Amino acid sequence: MGIARKIWRDGKGEQSYSWRGGRYINDGGYQMVANHTHPRKQQNGYVRDHILIAEEIIGKPLPDKAQIHHYGEKHDNSKMVICQDQECHFYLHIRQKALMECGHANWRKCKFCQEYAPVGELHCEKCHGKKGGWSVYHMECAREYDRIRYRRNHGSSAAISRASC
Ligand SMILES: [Zn+2]
Ligand SMILES: [Zn+2]
Repeated sequence: MGIARKIWRDGKGEQSYSWRGGRYINDGGYQMVANHTHPRKQQNGYVRDHILIAEEIIGKPLPDKAQIHHYGEKHDNSKMVICQDQECHFYLHIRQKALMECGHANWRKCKFCQEYAPVGELHCEKCHGKKGGWSVYHMECAREYDRIRYRRNHGSSAAISRASC
């Protein structure tokens, strides 16, 4: 792996790509394939192999916003899902994490007590930050948090705002 990376950095043109058939696993764990013409190619002339596979499956280029989620190892391109955009991809990650951590893909984690619970028991609130996403918590936990903040502020009249995300 290190050698393949060194070779493209040295920039020996086509010759360098003959190493391992123009394929390597990058630092992020993804399989990379030499392809100089693909619109999604990276500066080194390599494209993430899962993009090529997905495009072959759907029979056309991936839409601009589309992202690919791996539900196994990142280099295992037999386990992937095409997401229409980043939000959808992000949502998949939350579900997968929930499934792994508490056994229920539908449950969400309270940001105050860090416990998972069915969505119906939690309060969900859209975040205003750049990242978007949702703020999820038990109402009781939020009230407890507010009480603590209130005490800390010595009952000053300053508005108590909950930390987002
Ligand atoms: Zn993903
Ligand atoms: Zn809670």
